[in-house]
Amino acid sequence: MKKLVMIGNGMAGVRTIEEILKVSPEQFEITIFGQEPYPNYNRIKLSNILQGDTNFEDIIINPLDWYKENNIELFTGDAVTKIDVEQKRVISEQGRIVEYDELIIATGSNSFILPIPGADKIGVTGFRDIKDCETMIKSAKQYKKAVVIGGGLLGLEAARGLLNLGMQVDVVHLMPNLMERQLDPIASSLLKTELESQGMNFLMEKETVEILGDEQVKGLRFKDGSEVEADLVVMAIGIKSNTQVARDSGIYVNRGIVVNDFMETSVPNVYAVGECAEHREIVYGLVAPLYEQGKVLASRICGNVGEPYQGSVTGTQLKVAGVDLFSAGEIFEDGSTKSIMVYNEYDGVYKKILTRNNVIVGVVLYGDTKDSTKLYRMLTKKEDISGMTSISVLQSECTGEGGSDDVASMPNDELVCGCNGVTKGAIVEAIKTQGLTTLDQVSHCTNAGRSCGRCKPMVSNILAYTLGDQFDAAAAQKTSICSCTTISREELVEEIKVKGLTSVKEVMNVLEWNNEEGCTKCRPAINYYLGMIHMDEYKDDRDSRLVNEKMHANIQKDGTYSVVPRMYGGVTTAADLKKIAEVAEKYDVPLVKLTGGQRIGLFGVKKEDLPQMWEELDMPSGYAYGKTLRTVKTCVGAQFCRYGTQDSMALGIELEKKFERLDTPHKVKMGVSACPRNCSEAGIKDIGFVGIDGGWEIYVAGNGGVDLRPGDLLCTMKTQEEVMEMTGAYLQYYRETANYLERTSKWVERMSLEHVKEVLADEATRKALNERMDQTLRKYIEPWNEAIQSEEIQDKYYAKRMITVGSEFK
Ligand SMILES: Cc1cc2nc3c(=O)[nH]c(=O)nc-3n(C[C@H](O)[C@H](O)[C@H](O)COP(=O)(O)OP(=O)(O)OC[C@H]3O[C@@H](n4cnc5c(N)ncnc54)[C@H](O)[C@@H]3O)c2cc1C
Ligand code: SF4
Repeated sequence: MKKLVMIGNGMAGVRTIEEILKVSPEQFEITIFGQEPYPNYNRIKLSNILQGDTNFEDIIINPLDWYKENNIELFTGDAVTKIDVEQKRVISEQGRIVEYDELIIATGSNSFILPIPGADKIGVTGFRDIKDCETMIKSAKQYKKAVVIGGGLLGLEAARGLLNLGMQVDVVHLMPNLMERQLDPIASSLLKTELESQGMNFLMEKETVEILGDEQVKGLRFKDGSEVEADLVVMAIGIKSNTQVARDSGIYVNRGIVVNDFMETSVPNVYAVGECAEHREIVYGLVAPLYEQGKVLASRICGNVGEPYQGSVTGTQLKVAGVDLFSAGEIFEDGSTKSIMVYNEYDGVYKKILTRNNVIVGVVLYGDTKDSTKLYRMLTKKEDISGMTSISVLQSECTGEGGSDDVASMPNDELVCGCNGVTKGAIVEAIKTQGLTTLDQVSHCTNAGRSCGRCKPMVSNILAYTLGDQFDAAAAQKTSICSCTTISREELVEEIKVKGLTSVKEVMNVLEWNNEEGCTKCRPAINYYLGMIHMDEYKDDRDSRLVNEKMHANIQKDGTYSVVPRMYGGVTTAADLKKIAEVAEKYDVPLVKLTGGQRIGLFGVKKEDLPQMWEELDMPSGYAYGKTLRTVKTCVGAQFCRYGTQDSMALGIELEKKFERLDTPHKVKMGVSACPRNCSEAGIKDIGFVGIDGGWEIYVAGNGGVDLRPGDLLCTMKTQEEVMEMTGAYLQYYRETANYLERTSKWVERMSLEHVKEVLADEATRKALNERMDQTLRKYIEPWNEAIQSEEIQDKYYAKRMITVGSEFK
């Protein structure tokens, strides 16, 4: 097998790998290096994260299991620092050296940060990745005043997000008009008026020359001497291709890494794709052209004589609620252009078409973008409009409601999903030949709607038009568990109950899964729902679990594992500490680390050493890898602390002993503090307990991770017994009604806190929930001990032959 290495684990690169796997799945042994510590995610949706419409898990395009299923070795959080083009190998920051036969550079871009004094102060950020979003979300919790530098697409989306986060936002722009590269002055002023009405304040024609403050940013100074206050500064003035590693390795770089029409760089067997690549002197910054590049490159690298990449015309849309705009091609008239224009000031609708020699060369639409796909097609295909009237160019010959009539009048080659280059014809064909009935399925099969998502309403119309009487509007919107089925979570749970289904295989057979083996999305979910419904009778299907749960250890970046024994309530003994130290020494464990959950983790353990280490530790598994109760963090509490009003350690230990090993839809963390000083950070746990005079407050739905969220007060209880009863009922209600992989914070937001409170206020309901909880808890056995006792388990899961990460799913 040839070795294919890719530098950069982002949108263009991973799409190229997907295309390669489609063309020739067995041709390459693939290794990917990604500087960010995540799998490939939809960067376009960062604006939605900031605007509070979605969360990080929902924007992951390729989960870690996708890499494993496709035998791709992925090194996250490790940047490649050198390409040795002579010896054909790459060298990473962490010292990895990997040889290649073919190398793809897909390093994307960085935010362009103005080189002015103060640009390195705390509180100055770009808008490029999850880290930047975290900085903004954190600032919004602490501060009030944000300034965004840049009135382009990114700047305006960032500004809208910051408004949603409750900040006052000034947008500073160097030019007299917003988005001046995509909009003409009229459209730009309509946009400005709309955004002002949403609460944005604009400082136009201002050049920032200095960022003020000591360590933390305090304001900005402009060239005209004026100043503005700021606690957060977002620089959104553009992007800069990330070419350092290519440049340092002798590959020809201009603005980007220079490539030919087959994405080949100046060095043999080295290709570049995405925002880091410069093709015919253009560096693209939108996914549509980058995905086109990826297709061409995939074909080339697999040895096919495919079509060359000849450049793209891009269309722009702004993802801000209340703003409907589209722009493509040329914006400004010159002596050779003629324009067709409609301006309805009253309704805030503006349309301008620029033509040259009877061909559309530019489109600006504001306030009504229904015609954007038609006009974009006419522009990119250079259709001759001489036979058309100006009215017919500007108006669809359809109902305007976006319904079936619109679809009927659309030619088959009209682009529906601009990001992924999917036409109406391709969607209709997929629906007909593959029997698709939901939006989800269409998206999975054709890629339509997989990126910015703006085409989803049109995809839904095409589905309705193609299916005719067979179209079921409610079913079409349904989010199926995965692409193996059209069944939703609610339907699956119902079918398991009604049909008495008892195994993962049986579910997939009886409910007619279209992929008889299922996938890494549905198998763990079915296994969870079966266990939740059948409580103590269900025999867990270990092979259907996610890889970490199957192994009862967390797999690490380099393919080794971690071992984290249970320490109830964060309390340990000298004897246990000695055992941990001895095992760590004996097995030469590279890292012994206190974890965030108040216990000790042993990192870098070889798979074949796991059972023996567990035996020698003789401690229960801490389930640091599971969708289950992870830890109960406690403060020292009333026993030792002079502020403590309650025994936090005793409650923490009781909670952890009762609920350890319980299968839950997602991980659950708890914290117990003995007074409102809250040293165990109970306010950002799934369930947090805070001691007060005469009782406990219970907080729920807190989250200390990417989606930082303070917990909401569920109730106040007098005794420890009452606390245990309420916790059991709450957890069981979460188990029974949450979607698999839905954190408690998202679940409470979906169900509403009021609803959860109402359900749990009823004593009989609480009692019934606790009975089902107790019945479920009876089935669990200690997994490390089970592995120690069973040669079969050891042989199947921990024998040395299964050493590579990629082979886990074989
Ligand atoms: C907030 C925001 C909104 C956007 N909205 C839209 C939109 O509406 N429509 C649209 O079409 N596009 C949009 N884009 C642009 C789109 O996201 C990018 O065009 C696309 O992500 C580029 O893909 P890429 O693979 O070239 O780069 P990236 O997705 O940036 O991926 C490059 C990856 O390479 C990694 N990397 C860099 N150097 C190294 C190294 N030496 N070793 C290992 N890894 C490395 C980086 O960390 C990064 O993860 C938006 C972008 C942002 C930030
Ligand atoms: S939370 Fe209160 S009781 Fe617990 S350690 Fe902190 S100050 Fe002491």
